[in-house]
Amino acid sequence: MRCPHCHYKNTKVLDSRPIEEGRSIRRRRECESCDFRFTTFERIEEVPLIVVKKEGTREEYSRDKLMRGLIRACEKRPVALEQLENIAVEIEKELRNRGTSEVKSDEIGEMVMDRLANVDEVAYVRFASVYRQFKDISVFLDELKDLIRHDNNDKNE
Ligand SMILES: [Zn+2]
Repeated sequence: MRCPHCHYKNTKVLDSRPIEEGRSIRRRRECESCDFRFTTFERIEEVPLIVVKKEGTREEYSRDKLMRGLIRACEKRPVALEQLENIAVEIEKELRNRGTSEVKSDEIGEMVMDRLANVDEVAYVRFASVYRQFKDISVFLDELKDLIRHDNNDKNE
């Protein structure tokens, strides 16, 4: 790394340590020519994740937005915030591991529903109703029927 002071091309690293829970490294450097000291940071490059919406418009993926949707769906339900954070982190990880930067909003919706169904049925139905309202209301009713059948089965057991 070039010295910002005298522009000499070699610097030595005096100290190097992980920060931000290991997501970056901070290095203290010293110029081999003028002894000027400075700090550099090394961090993983994050490729932006783009969500393609139903109308074909695109927006950058936002964990906050996903969390808001999850929190709304789980209002007054016995679901810990931590569980929702885990869902969001898991989904994001899966999306990033695909290696493509574009993802359809539908796919995220399905991923959320798969996970919410295991956490809380009411939250699942709420999310599904909001998520699917522009698609087809009959799909939502089918979901409800499935859940009611589910409940009855539970009672009969
Ligand atoms: Zn220098």
